[in-house]
Amino acid sequence: MVKPFIPELVYIEPRALEYPLGRELKAKFEDMGIEIRETTSHNQVRNLPGENDFQKYRMAKSTLVVGVRKTLKFDTSKPSAEYAIPLATGCMGHCHYCYLQTTMGSKPYIRTYVNVEEVFESAEQYMKERAPEITRFEASCTSDIVGVDHLTHSLKRAIEYFGQSEYGKLRFVTKFAHVDHLLDAKHNGRTRFRFSMNADYVIKYLEPGTSRLNERIEAAAKVAKAGYPLGFIIAPIYLYEDWKEGYKELFEQLQDKLPDYATKDLTFELIQHRFTKPAKRVIQKNYPMTKLEMDEEKRKYKWGKYGIGKYVYQKEEQEEMKSVLGGYIEQYFPEASLEYFT
Ligand code: SF4
Repeated sequence: MVKPFIPELVYIEPRALEYPLGRELKAKFEDMGIEIRETTSHNQVRNLPGENDFQKYRMAKSTLVVGVRKTLKFDTSKPSAEYAIPLATGCMGHCHYCYLQTTMGSKPYIRTYVNVEEVFESAEQYMKERAPEITRFEASCTSDIVGVDHLTHSLKRAIEYFGQSEYGKLRFVTKFAHVDHLLDAKHNGRTRFRFSMNADYVIKYLEPGTSRLNERIEAAAKVAKAGYPLGFIIAPIYLYEDWKEGYKELFEQLQDKLPDYATKDLTFELIQHRFTKPAKRVIQKNYPMTKLEMDEEKRKYKWGKYGIGKYVYQKEEQEEMKSVLGGYIEQYFPEASLEYFT
């Protein structure tokens, strides 16, 4: 079982102490006996323990920076929501194909923002601009927010904030099962709680440091019982030898463990595995023993923005994935909706 994340090292930006959450976190980490260092800005986080890049990378993933979010302008977040709501960045997980490896570059530590009220005020403005249309906010664009929330509860506050709102909805996705503190949040059905699921083989070999499949399924059942609208992102869909069987078992287990009522308003998002050349280099550096297949020759090249194309599966493979997984959705969850395959 993967234990809830506890940082090995904490950095606190002095301005964070001007906010109640910043002071609360400082006291909490002091009580826990965790080493705390001061830093004027997260860019100053240096001299992480470790003898080489490999060790420093691992240390960074166990380091939490408590800071203040300066940019209150939100990024857009298509296709699943209108905006990304910034509550944290970075993740303690070690999924070999994680998108954060390229986006966070040399700063893979986790940051949590204590000026949550200001972030909510900004969200309020975005909602006003679009009202009476609903505005959806995605909380997991730059982190696995659930993985750190048992320490900060800022996601819980966001859930309750949008629970009260008239025109806002919240969504996020996680690979962590530490959801107990979120079960009594007053969500009012306005948060879609999604879990990233995969075949057991993929989770076992390619997603170290995250909750195991059975733990995620148990957590999903708890979340459903707490009345949250539920969703699953199956990503990345990865073609290994027994993939059809592996994904079938996933659906069987989901059907077996979820309460019936949760399957009425259930969403699925399907995302095939892809990689770029720069990502492949980073992955091979950070996880040199990876089993992840990244052979350009076997893939189809898809032109991308800024000249960085990605390697996806061949057209016929994509069709097969879509029909096999789409078939499982129809068979096991006939009332669920498939939002997209990409
Ligand atoms: Fe990346 Fe998500 Fe894995 Fe964290 S859980 S390492 S954010 S893919």
